[in-house]
This record gives sequence, structure tokens and C-alpha cells, in this order.
Amino acid sequence: MSNANSNVVTMGASFQQADSFEPTPEILKAWTAVYKELRNEFGEAVYRSWLKPLSLQAYYHGTLEVSVPTRFMRDWIQSHYAARILEMSMEKNAEIKRLEIVVVQNSVPLDEEDEEILARPKANINELTADYDLSSPLDPRFTFDNFVVGKTNALAHAAARRVVECDKVPFNPLYIYGGVGIGKTHLMHAIAHQIRQQDPEKVVMYLSAEKFMYQFVRALRGQDTMKFKEIFRSVDVLMMDDIQFIAGKESTQEEFFHTFNALVDYNKQIIISADKAPSEMNGIDERLRSRLAWGLVADIQQSSYDLRLDILHSKRALLQADIPDSVLEFLALKVTSNIRELEGALNRIVAHADVSKNPVTLESTQDILQDMLRSHDRRITIDEIQRKVAEHYNIKLTDMHSSRRARSVARPRQIAMYLAKQLTARSLPEIGRKFGGRDHTTVMHAVRKIEELMDEDAGFAQDVEVVRRALTG
Ligand code: ADP
Ligand code: MG
Repeated sequence: MSNANSNVVTMGASFQQADSFEPTPEILKAWTAVYKELRNEFGEAVYRSWLKPLSLQAYYHGTLEVSVPTRFMRDWIQSHYAARILEMSMEKNAEIKRLEIVVVQNSVPLDEEDEEILARPKANINELTADYDLSSPLDPRFTFDNFVVGKTNALAHAAARRVVECDKVPFNPLYIYGGVGIGKTHLMHAIAHQIRQQDPEKVVMYLSAEKFMYQFVRALRGQDTMKFKEIFRSVDVLMMDDIQFIAGKESTQEEFFHTFNALVDYNKQIIISADKAPSEMNGIDERLRSRLAWGLVADIQQSSYDLRLDILHSKRALLQADIPDSVLEFLALKVTSNIRELEGALNRIVAHADVSKNPVTLESTQDILQDMLRSHDRRITIDEIQRKVAEHYNIKLTDMHSSRRARSVARPRQIAMYLAKQLTARSLPEIGRKFGGRDHTTVMHAVRKIEELMDEDAGFAQDVEVVRRALTG
């Protein structure tokens, strides 16, 4: 009887809770525990870009309601992380049945002064820039149409599209980072093309950080900084490429910081590219660094085989060249360093065929690229890879050849196989032999598995990247 009674009481209480939408202490505790685990579960980069702002809003009838500041974030979290977060929550508290992500903006209303600034006529940028060559030309080939999307660049691409499709500024700044030759500049130019096409009135300024610095120093020398400031404050969209260049350049950073703040205040879009995440950039002032991470930080990761192959197919169509699939597959497999080199290799083959008037074949391709591929071979051996990986993951070198299957040794072994495939010209059976006489299907499986894990987990990908750099750099 007392049991039944207490049941009734509990139900009554939970209805009250539901009506007030206040999370119970148990739910609060469960959510706090989940939140603490997010970083570990999804890796540092994902955590920082997406999950950190999650905040518990309400709880009712088994629905956990958490908020994020923007719609874009909500959509992305919804499609990428929500299922796992719900799973984690259910493990902590079986009452939780659903996860609802809502957008709660803490936008500040414009004050009068802002409105006045926004309403004033636009400065005549042509007049202002007459003796300053500030914006850099755009490459007409770097359009959205020509940009091939894969898992490794999906986030950056989605964010770039969002910037051009959104009437308001969706996030400020958009910060795109990644290694060389993987499409940062291409994406920025694509945004600029698209905005100019949609609205020719808009002033879109694209330039490298190097150019910004050069012009700033020039303005300082010519005692013309007012004009310089005015120009930069009259743009609608400012894109600065390769911002790592101003690391350690204090006065340029200072000037950029002010420009940045002024534009953000006027609600103008800023887009920045860099080779590293804001938190990893050295020589950048702390205030600027934290500002850079304010908006959306999107990385482009090293390309996967599939993306490389898709890109090659697209380039073949653009070139209207007669190239067999086997050649594209060969290139996608061998030229893994970056997309620029991949493109370079393709162009070389096409040019060679043009000059020699011979068709492109797998044999001719192998010949032409021999230098390039041989230099890859010469640089790195499977033994080196095994040693480096064992050292990094703190396992015994002999475990590279052993049959132990514990995750703690099997995973590093798979990473070593993956790197052997990526960094050497050895075939799958050759690699298998080097790993204690394993079958080529085992190697293939390892390569796929590691690619998959790298796609899913930015922290893991970064870790593998560290080993790769230690080997190649
Ligand atoms: P980054 O600025 O990152 O160093 P770029 O944007 O200059 O690299 O890209 C290098 C080359 O690779 C360019 O020719 C670019 O068009 C091409 N490229 C990079 N990513 C893609 C992609 N996803 N689809 C098509 N081409 C790409
Ligand atoms: Mg670039």
C-alpha cells in the first residue's frame, strides 16, 4: 500500500515538474555527467566548435531540451551528434526518452547609434580604393559548382553555403582552417563569387593577410591610416586568407583586431582562413585569438581516397580529357599529400598526352609520375612507420608483427598499415607481409577502418596527423 501511495506522489510531483519544465535534480545530474563526457566522446575539436555551447533548458515528459545559439549549429548537431548524445543521456537516466535541440539566441538589440551607422550611405569604395590596390583578384574557376564535397570538407562547405544563403550574418567570423592545398582559398573565392553575383552592390573584399599587412605598413608610412581604416570599415564582407601570416606581427594584429571589431559591430560578415585552429595559433594576441573563435570554426581535413577520386572525375569532366578510370584511381591512391598536387599530377599527364599525341594509359601515367612517386618511396619506409607509430602509441615494435588482438595494440597496428598505404608505394600484399605476414584484405580493412575513424572523430584524426607529420616533415 505504501508503495502505491508513494507512486501516486511521485507521479504528482513529476507532473508538477513537467508543468514547470524545470529539470529535476536527477535529470540535472544526468545532463551534467553527459556534458562532462562530451569532450572525451567526440574529441576536442568537435567539442569546442559545436558541443561546448549546449545548455540544458528544460525537461518534460522524458524530453531533454537543450539549447544552442544558432540554427546552423542546431541542424549540424542534430544530424551528426544528437543520436549519440541521446544515447549517452539515456544511459545516465532511463527516464530520458528524447532529445530536443532548440535555438536560443542571446542577441543584443541594436542601439540608436548602430542603427544610424547602418542607415548612412555607403562610402564610395571605388573612390576610396583608387590609389590602394586592396582586394585581390578572384580565380574564376574557384566556384561552388567546381567544389567537390566529401566528408572531410562537408562542414566547411556547409558553413560557406550558409554564409551566402543567409540574409543575416549567420556567424561571425566564419573561420576555416586546414593544411595546404586542400581547398580553403577555393571556398573563400566561391563565397565571394556567389555574393557578388547575388548582389553586385555588395562590397566584398578578399585579400591575404600578407597583403593586408603590406598595405597597412604602406598606409602607416604615407601617414594615410585614416583612409586605410575607412576603406576596411566600408566593406560588407571581409575575407582574409592565411591569417597565420600575421602571427607575431603585433601592430598589424592590433589594426586587424580593430577592423574586426568595427565590422562585427556593423554586422558585416568576416571570413578567415588559417592553417590551424585559433587555439593552436602561436604568436596571436589573446584577445584576437578568442575573437577568432567566436563564430564558427570549421576545419578541412586531409582528403580521403573517395574524395580524391571524386575530384579527379570532376576535373576530368572540366578538362574534357580522355582519361581512363584506372588512371584516376591510380592517382587518387598515390597522390595523397593534397589536392593541389593531385591536380598538378593530372595536369601533367594531360599535358604529356597532348604533346606526345599518345593516349593516356596507366603505363604512361606511371612513367610520368615516377619521379614524384619515387621521392615518396625514398623518404619513408614501412619500418620507419612501424617504429614511429609504436613509439607514439607506446607499444612494442614487435607488436606490429605479432598476432595480439587487444585493441591497445591492434589499433596502432592498423594506423601503421594505413600510413604505410598512404605514405609508401607498397601494394597491399607487400604491406601485409611486413606486418607479420597478414593477408592483403586485413590491410584493406585496416585502411578503411582508420579512414572511417578519422572521419568520425576529429581528435583521432588529429592524432594520426601528428604521426604522419612526424614521418613526412
Ligand atoms: P588552400 O587554400 O587550402 O591551400 P586551395 O583552395 O588553393 O588550397 O586548393 C588547391 C587546389 O585544389 C585548387 O586548385 C582547388 O581548386 C583544388 N581543390 C581543393 N579542394 C577541392 C575540392 N573539394 N573540389 C575541387 N577542387 C578542389
Ligand atoms: Mg590558400
